[in-house]
Amino acid sequence: MAWQVMLIFGSPVQKVHAPSHEIVNGKAENHAETPQRFDSVLAQVSSPVRAPADHGLAPILAVHEADYLAFLQSAFGEWRVAGRDGDAIGYAFPVRARRRLALARIDAKLGQFGFDAVTPIAAGTWEAAYWGAQAALGGIAAIAAGEARQAFALCRPPGHHAGADYFGGYCYLNNAAIAARAAIAAGMGPVAVLDVDYHHGNGTQDIFYADGSVLFVSIHADPRTDFPFFWGHAQERGAGAGEGANLNLPLPRGTVWRAYAGALAKALEAIAAFGARMLIVSYGADTLAGDPIAHFALTRDDMARMGAAIARLGLPTLTVLEGGYDVPALGDNVAAFLAGLESA
Ligand SMILES: [Zn+2]
Repeated sequence: MAWQVMLIFGSPVQKVHAPSHEIVNGKAENHAETPQRFDSVLAQVSSPVRAPADHGLAPILAVHEADYLAFLQSAFGEWRVAGRDGDAIGYAFPVRARRRLALARIDAKLGQFGFDAVTPIAAGTWEAAYWGAQAALGGIAAIAAGEARQAFALCRPPGHHAGADYFGGYCYLNNAAIAARAAIAAGMGPVAVLDVDYHHGNGTQDIFYADGSVLFVSIHADPRTDFPFFWGHAQERGAGAGEGANLNLPLPRGTVWRAYAGALAKALEAIAAFGARMLIVSYGADTLAGDPIAHFALTRDDMARMGAAIARLGLPTLTVLEGGYDVPALGDNVAAFLAGLESA
């Protein structure tokens, strides 16, 4: 296998984020987004994983609000100061358009910046998320420098549910969006982000919704039945300068490759029509049959087919890891997808 065409970035610091529980289905369940996901992928990629250089906060600030980043960095400490054990998790979330209230209590801040109860902030969350973003930036830098035409960032925790000023869906920093903005800054645009995780990439959609310089295309479970519910519907097409630069292709639970391939063909057609010169793929392996928190029915071989179809666009491509919660199978699926990407 010609792994040299693909550079892989990741930092062991990304494993220090290890929340214990999430509140789902009315119960405290073990958290599904575990550090073992990182190891599962690491075990299956046959080229060495490069530790990324530190590109600093500036490229992250190109996507995320400064007060949100300050919150992420201080939240766990404030939680401890408030006398709490365990991980920081909110219990009150504002429903209506949020005013910028300068509230000090940690529980208010967790609500202000969070949108669900499945995304705790633990001791190592900031460091892990920060280095995940650096892994994505490392991939962009390598492609920009002509070192490789493709790169894979072993991002963990994932990123596509995080917006400019919010976390949720196990995500804190939007690695795909940070990479897209960095690619544009490096003169690699126009950029398309293709999100093939089982869940809609609501954060990425929000970040670029009124930004016509980035096309966002997502194939995902119908939000009428699946998280994140409030985004990902077919009629969400972008606004203002971004009108028409957002394409949602929701699919029903139980989707197998034949139907998935049809949606993927539409997605790739839109990316080609947009005139993208750089592609960022938000790859989640939770489309696999039997994933513990998702309900499509793709196979490992379908992951390779998906990668090969995307590769036929012929674009420089950074793939960032999003979801995939069948931990023993995760690395194998990532490897199959990357092999498909390299095959064209
Ligand atoms: Zn997902």
